Amino acid sequence: MTSRQPANPVVLVAACALVDADGRILIAQRPAGKALAGLWEFPGGKVEAGETPETALIRELEEELGLTTWASCLAPLTFASHAYETFHLLMPLFVCRRFDGTATGREGQAIKWVRPRALRDYPMPPADEPLIAHLIDLL
Ligand code: C5P
Repeated sequence: MTSRQPANPVVLVAACALVDADGRILIAQRPAGKALAGLWEFPGGKVEAGETPETALIRELEEELGLTTWASCLAPLTFASHAYETFHLLMPLFVCRRFDGTATGREGQAIKWVRPRALRDYPMPPADEPLIAHLIDLL
C-alpha cells in the first residue's frame, strides 16, 4: 500500500526589481508581524484570482510604494521556485525601469535603493537570494 502526503499548496508571488536612473535597485524590509519579518525583499506580492503577475505587480507597487507603472514596462528576468515548509513559492522576477512617483513605504516598511553588488549585504528570504546573481549579471 502506498500512502502519499498531500502536496503543499503553490503560492504565486510576483516580484519586481525597480531600477532607478543611477542603476540602483529598490528593496523593502518585511515589517514586524509578517512572516520573515526583518528580511529585505524585492517588492511585490501574491497574485490574486483574476490577475496576471503583471497586473498584480502594478497593484502592489501602487499599494505598497505609491508608484505607478505599466505592463509594457515590466520585463520578465527570471523565476524563483522555493519549497517553504508549508507551501511552495513560485515567484517571477520582473525588471522595471519606468515608473511614476517617489517610492514611499506606505505600509510602514523601510525601503532602500542599493547598488546591485550591495544587495548581498542585506539578509533576504531564501527565495529571493538566488535572484541577486541575475540582477548583477543584467546591470
Ligand atoms: O508578501 P506575502 O507575505 O504575501 O508573501 C507570501 C509569502 O511568500 C511570504 O510569507 C514569504 O514566505 C514569501 N515571499 C518571499 N519573497 C518575497 C515575497 C514573499 O519569499 N519577495
